[in-house]
Amino acid sequence: MESIGKTLKTSKKIVIKIGSNVLSKENGQINEEILENIVYQSCELMKKGKQIIIVSSGAGICGATAIGKWSRRGDMNYKQALCAIGQVELMMGYKNFFQKHHQTVGQILLTRQDFTKEENALHIRNTLFTLVDEGVVPIVNENDSVSVEEIKIGDNDTLSALVAHLWNADVLVCLSDIQGLYDKNPKKHKDAKLIEIVEDIDDVLKKIDVDGTSDFGTGGIMTKIEAAKMVRDYGIPTVLLSGKKKNILLDAMEDRIKGTGFSVENVNGE
Ligand code: ADP
Repeated sequence: MESIGKTLKTSKKIVIKIGSNVLSKENGQINEEILENIVYQSCELMKKGKQIIIVSSGAGICGATAIGKWSRRGDMNYKQALCAIGQVELMMGYKNFFQKHHQTVGQILLTRQDFTKEENALHIRNTLFTLVDEGVVPIVNENDSVSVEEIKIGDNDTLSALVAHLWNADVLVCLSDIQGLYDKNPKKHKDAKLIEIVEDIDDVLKKIDVDGTSDFGTGGIMTKIEAAKMVRDYGIPTVLLSGKKKNILLDAMEDRIKGTGFSVENVNGE
């Protein structure tokens, strides 16, 4: 990968995955300012001729915000109930902000079965293509309220990779609360160094430390690396950026800000 900016500029079909940490404030409530800015940026990208699919976490946080509590967070059914409440709130947020730009959104909630059964996958693929062709922004999430272990995808990094593959995206952009991939967890180590371009994922994995998952996030950095690996095998590069920074996508496109780009070159000796 030459640069993140060039990759974003030359990509038409962009999957944007938004992590739950991006959408949450320190008090555990939904960060509307960031949500509004991501919506604004998506519309700006569309004005530049890009097509967008959003894979958004944050239903749990929205649910907790809506009912004003986040107790029993270890209780699976309680979490699923919060997601049922929060998914509506989350979509309402997207709908209202996109509406300001006269932009329609559509909601798609998926489970693992939707990808493992070929017929299901084909239908979802067609639905995604139809929505995008109609100028609608699909907003995808795991159907957390019904997902039990057997049919769970588990985290939205993997879901976004599956969507990127299904839709033949040109790039997968993961927005998280860190600037990119570091040699060690930047939240624990002040001297952690940002890795700007990853040419060989397996090689980099041998040299870095990864740990931890967040309260709301279920993936951690490892699922982002796995997602990058999954789409790389289909020739789709991944870009990891800080979704907490205002106008990050627009700035990254001009190479005004750093992140991590996962190359698709150097695979199978190419
Ligand atoms: P999201 O909610 O955006 O999906 P997660 O909290 O699941 O994000 O995962 C990102 C977190 O992974 C970061 O906030 C960071 O604390 C942690 N992490 C652990 N090791 C690393 C590393 N080597 N580089 C970057 N982040 C790391």
